[in-house]
Amino acid sequence: MKGFVFHGPGQAAWQDVPDPAVKEPTDAIVKVGAVTICGTDLHILKGDVPEVRPGTVLGHEAVGEIVEVGSDVRTVRPGDRVLISCITSCGRCRFCRDGSYGQCRGGGGWILGHRIDGTQAEYVRVPCADLSVHALPAALRSEDAVLLADIFPTAYEVGVLNGHVRPGDTVAIVGAGPIGLAAIVTARLFAPERIIAVDLVPARLEAARRLGADAVADVREAPGQLVSDLTDELGADVAIEAVGVPESFELCTRVVRPGGHVANVGVHGRPATLHLEELWIRNVTITTGLVDTYSTPTLLRMAAAGRLPTGLLVTHTFPLQQMEEAYEVFSRAGETGALKVVLGGEQHAELAVPAA
Ligand SMILES: [Zn+2]
Ligand SMILES: [Zn+2]
Repeated sequence: MKGFVFHGPGQAAWQDVPDPAVKEPTDAIVKVGAVTICGTDLHILKGDVPEVRPGTVLGHEAVGEIVEVGSDVRTVRPGDRVLISCITSCGRCRFCRDGSYGQCRGGGGWILGHRIDGTQAEYVRVPCADLSVHALPAALRSEDAVLLADIFPTAYEVGVLNGHVRPGDTVAIVGAGPIGLAAIVTARLFAPERIIAVDLVPARLEAARRLGADAVADVREAPGQLVSDLTDELGADVAIEAVGVPESFELCTRVVRPGGHVANVGVHGRPATLHLEELWIRNVTITTGLVDTYSTPTLLRMAAAGRLPTGLLVTHTFPLQQMEEAYEVFSRAGETGALKVVLGGEQHAELAVPAA
């Protein structure tokens, strides 16, 4: 089969790789029908995630059809159309028993396209299949569902829920890439008074408005002042960091009101300054997190009911074998306007999984 293989910083190729096989009785083999590229994959390509070994197939977000299961898999069968979660869960360790699947110590957590071969391939082996894939309702298109593998549960759990967004809140979202946009969509579920989106790319600020931001600010044009003006100088109830650079984290700590929440979602590669000399007196709560994906079943039901417009984040689609072109477009998002790119899916039906 073909897969997108990481060969070290700056080097990767869509190439022949061995077909995956069931290794453990809890494994499933999935024929990939729709797959996306994540900002995290770009971090890996840059060499920011050194534990990814050369030779690894990348990717941790996909929809596909089960083609084979190990003898201990109970909840899915060959022929089932499933969402592959970015988080694998053993279901038995202390963290999994607590719903913190992202921190799994039983062989799960974020492993696909990280510690083992991932989803940017024609077939993928998914360990602990019972708890790591979700059967998909027939009504949900693959290119809508695939956004629920990572982007939507991450924005919702680590941004909106960790940030304790409540009705009537002012929510400042710093970063209007796919995660920030999904945070806008899921924050709106709580009927905030207003959502303020901050970014430096005009096309992303436009997308933020389309998806429901009430005000937008270019990061170079005093976004802190805008938040202050809109909140009677109080600050935002919740500030969600969705970039992953020190400046955006520090901006969140400046725009949050006393007693408010800063929810960090961004993947950071450098230290950020925590201004405790200003924050100590302000009762601010700061949260961090890797997604656990405990919310995925809820989000899937909402998407199937038409209550979550996930597909609005998809700007480009490609056939699966155009993986290298898709990476090219996604990595130049500033010029191409790419938000999420989807490979496969129903538009490219020759590679799509038939609806269940
Ligand atoms: Zn991802
Ligand atoms: Zn576990």
